[in-house]
Amino acid sequence: MSNIEVPYKIYLSEDDVPDSWYNVRADMKNKPAPLLNPGTLQPMKFDELRPVFCDELIKQEFDNDTAYIKIPDEIKNFYMMYRPSPLIHAVFLEKALKTPAHIFYKFEGNNTSGSHKLNSAIAQAYYAKKQGLKGVTTETGAGQWGTALAMACAFFKLDCKVFMVKVSYEQKPFRREVMRTYGATVTPSPSMETEAGRKINEAHPGTTGSLGCAISEAVECAIKSEGYRYVLGSVLNQVLLHQSVIGLETKKACEKYNIQPDIIIGCAGGGSNLGGLISPFMGEKLRGEKDYKFIAVEPASCPSFTRGKFVYDFCDTGKICPMAKMYTLGHDFIPSANHAGGLRYHGMSSILSQLYHDGFMEARSVEQTKVFEAAEQFARTEGILPAPESSHAIRVAIDEAIKCRETGEEKTIIFGLTGTGYFDMKAYEQFNDKTMSDHIPTDEELQKGFASIPNVN
Ligand SMILES: *Cc1c(COP(=O)(O)O)cnc(C)c1O
Repeated sequence: MSNIEVPYKIYLSEDDVPDSWYNVRADMKNKPAPLLNPGTLQPMKFDELRPVFCDELIKQEFDNDTAYIKIPDEIKNFYMMYRPSPLIHAVFLEKALKTPAHIFYKFEGNNTSGSHKLNSAIAQAYYAKKQGLKGVTTETGAGQWGTALAMACAFFKLDCKVFMVKVSYEQKPFRREVMRTYGATVTPSPSMETEAGRKINEAHPGTTGSLGCAISEAVECAIKSEGYRYVLGSVLNQVLLHQSVIGLETKKACEKYNIQPDIIIGCAGGGSNLGGLISPFMGEKLRGEKDYKFIAVEPASCPSFTRGKFVYDFCDTGKICPMAKMYTLGHDFIPSANHAGGLRYHGMSSILSQLYHDGFMEARSVEQTKVFEAAEQFARTEGILPAPESSHAIRVAIDEAIKCRETGEEKTIIFGLTGTGYFDMKAYEQFNDKTMSDHIPTDEELQKGFASIPNVN
């Protein structure tokens, strides 16, 4: 640990907001597998993706070699409204745990969207605007991504159409109103507005939707609407690239105060916050300069890394998106009702999947009630009411700190606190009422999802 006095809250100065994103693919020997065209089974070409994604973002998606990509001034100016985000020394949590470990967290909940997703939303909206588009379409599960994108589109005066998973649309009416306040149109998914939605409604009457199904609707809507493109808030290489601002700032703070992390932890839904947080540190590990232990934390109800298969699969239920090679539970896998809406995706970032496959990273799955126990302890000691997603990382950070108490090791732990939980009070209510349950899928249940994996592997 540092011999320099570490302040409770490490606020970097504005000069410390990075000028470039860091692209960890440049330092990977085994590059992430390319997206495949499901028809030809050949890697997707630039022109094939143009009807779906913005041109500049396709270039970023394909770029496995450029280590640093300059952040355009317009994006950086927007970042300045809420960045740099603080790296906070969890002194009160350490005390409560009676641990010799040093715990820090990078807090990304300091903006109205309440999560790290704004880091990529603003970048994607900027490139859409620069290309002269009218608007963008997207899906949202828990609502954080939709909110972030609505804010970004309002800033650049772009139209924003959001397909929101029906169960969240009904459970989280206030999220929907935030999006509408920023000018977005919000449609519950599956809807009757798209062919994909109508098909899913027919096949599963009364379904409350899933992320994979909302993606199909949003992509179809973009392809069929003149001047629109589709944007995605996680999973893609470009999103991890944009989220590297989290890791770059964290690294700068560590260097400034001579903090040497041993363990870096993040929750993993599609992998964007974790990928962003660990990227610069992973770069050092890949180049053989330093070693760190990285831990991805996922819900036991949606265990893509810990129980999934590393294969090509569709990114969406409607099978209209390209296929990605990733740890997946199968595109037909629908996780049980779980309160960490942002962690319910069946797949995982191709970059993180490759790194995990190559042994550079570990993964752990945790049960919901254990996650909320950690959330409660964190809220009561550190004061911040954490998002259920973020609380997965808190859970494992606490577990690691308790291990240090038992072994006497003075490890330094950093975790990503991706957001706040104000819109998740239904989940907290269940936890407080002790009516929360933990569903861990059986092997047979998982088998149903695996059966949907295309036979191209
Ligand atoms: C979306 C979300 C996540 C999970 O997404 P990743 O792409 O895996 O980072 C985690 N925390 C919060 C608060 C989110 O909104």
